Amino acid sequence: TAGLVTLGETMAVLTPAVSGRPGPGNPLRVGIGGAESNVAVAVSRLGAPGTWIGRVGDDDLGRLVVRELRAEGVRVLAEVDPHAPTGLLLKELRGGRPRRVRYYRTGSAGSRLSPTDVDRARRAIADAGVLHLTGITAALGPQPRAALARATQVARDVGTRVSFDLNHRRTLWPDAAAAPVLRDLAASADVVFAGAEEAALILGRPAAGEATVDDGRELAAALLALGPGTAVVKLGALGAVAAHEGGVAYAPARAVTVVDPVGAGDAFAGGYLAELLRGMPPDVGLRTGNAMGAVVTATEGDWEGLPTRAELAEDLQGEEVMR
Ligand code: ATP
Repeated sequence: TAGLVTLGETMAVLTPAVSGRPGPGNPLRVGIGGAESNVAVAVSRLGAPGTWIGRVGDDDLGRLVVRELRAEGVRVLAEVDPHAPTGLLLKELRGGRPRRVRYYRTGSAGSRLSPTDVDRARRAIADAGVLHLTGITAALGPQPRAALARATQVARDVGTRVSFDLNHRRTLWPDAAAAPVLRDLAASADVVFAGAEEAALILGRPAAGEATVDDGRELAAALLALGPGTAVVKLGALGAVAAHEGGVAYAPARAVTVVDPVGAGDAFAGGYLAELLRGMPPDVGLRTGNAMGAVVTATEGDWEGLPTRAELAEDLQGEEVMR
């Protein structure tokens, strides 16, 4: 079956063992993460082929990125950049929970993505059922932005669907710079994923605080009017909404105890897209997306807790028994 191909920066992720500043009494654990590769892992765990295109440094952390993704069954098309290091992300834990992240990615190998990286992966894009892109790549600079444009063009030429997650990162670029760029990318995609606040940003509306399901429906319909084939608005603990030419679908979230919400959006996108690849309609995508998002929210780590399809089925069954 045709799988998912994605393009982006994956970094080494450093997490303090306990809350507070890193130091001799608080050693750092080393993992890896990146929004796009998180989605590839999610799809892979659900049994569909996942491919990640990116750049890593010629260093131990770059080799760790490649190894971890391959261990997850993701096909890695990585260019080893001899001139730049693999990027880093440091998580800050307070009260036992991840509070914010600090990037060490300026000038990193992964942020030097260019149209050349897309050209060398042309075949993988042609073979895939969906190409997944994010607004993070757009935030990394003009060259990565050109890579997104090239990737979109290649996908159009070969008839591969394009998925775009806004993934607005205020730590990388301000709202005013991001809004028009993200709006254009959303308009030209087949499937768009947005949080309510992100949707409001590219629609030029004031952020409306905590969004209701009705707000989500309205925002999804407004996003759809920009031009994508399907617009999905994620509503955290409320679930998600999808607007498409056939109407607007809503699916509620699963009730979980929040342990680490980071990565829920990527898990959701992976779940939704795995169903799209199987030819399933939006409401099935929403359900699987919600289930994936819930599991990642309830477990430590951005992607480590992602379930396999068998585990997901078990979870759903357990829920029915307990009812
Ligand atoms: P991220 O933190 O990865 O950026 P996001 O802001 O993109 O996430 P959310 O809406 O927070 O996206 O979460 C994505 C999906 O994960 C939701 O649509 C929902 O299915 C699930 N989810 C998130 N938070 C919860 C929660 N508290 N309880 C249950 N499910 C949740």
